[in-house]
Amino acid sequence: MTQTVIVDTHAHLDGDEYEADRDAVIDRAAAAGIVAIVSAGQDEATSRANLDLEARHPSVRPSAGVHPHLAAKAGAMRWLAGLARDPRVVAIGECGLDYHYDFSPRDVQRDVFARQLELAAEVSLPVIIHCRESEDDLIAALRAGYSRERRAVVHCFTGTYDFGRALVDEFDVYLGIGGAVTFKKAEALHDAVRRLPLDRLVLETDCPYMTPTPHRGKRNEPSYILLTCARVAELRDLTAEAVAQATTANASRLFPKLRR
Ligand SMILES: [Zn+2]
Ligand SMILES: [Zn+2]
Repeated sequence: MTQTVIVDTHAHLDGDEYEADRDAVIDRAAAAGIVAIVSAGQDEATSRANLDLEARHPSVRPSAGVHPHLAAKAGAMRWLAGLARDPRVVAIGECGLDYHYDFSPRDVQRDVFARQLELAAEVSLPVIIHCRESEDDLIAALRAGYSRERRAVVHCFTGTYDFGRALVDEFDVYLGIGGAVTFKKAEALHDAVRRLPLDRLVLETDCPYMTPTPHRGKRNEPSYILLTCARVAELRDLTAEAVAQATTANASRLFPKLRR
């Protein structure tokens, strides 16, 4: 029997939450069949911390970017232009718009996101997009600064089928499905995951956040992605192995640098 192979397309392994046992967390991920973990930068310090992790753990693959929460502190982002050209960096992000918390003014969020879309195009890297309660402005930003020939993922997708369909049809993006799909009450998301095209879905944990059932309330970690995979399989009436295979193939189309 071949071992299941899975990619965690969105994690934050640089976080303090893993200070005490990061090696054990990464070992458990490997034992669970997770061959690559995209660990997303949120500012300069976390982007560089993920690069340092890659040096010690080859399954950790860094992205570099500025999270919308931190957009107000982004400045000229010269460091990001530098990291974007580092061969180890697999994507630009996470970047995007978060109108739920509004930790940065919305016009600044839009500007910092637009600049990262532009940079990603310049260096031909995929984009990791964060979108919370900002659906209309996300579509506007993509219309203005993104073309469907490129690659992007809207991570932690928790929208409706119609929003997912609109994103896939107009921009051909991937949708990151995480722990929220295991929540009993997430009926609109269940419907979306059932019906959206399987070749546009990727799996993620967004750990240490978004912990799947039955571990809700505790710290999330990459090995828990198996719970998300199993729930997606159940919703689509497929085996977990089939979902793992499909989403892993999707992840390597989304992030070409994962194939090394
Ligand atoms: Zn996010
Ligand atoms: Zn994230």
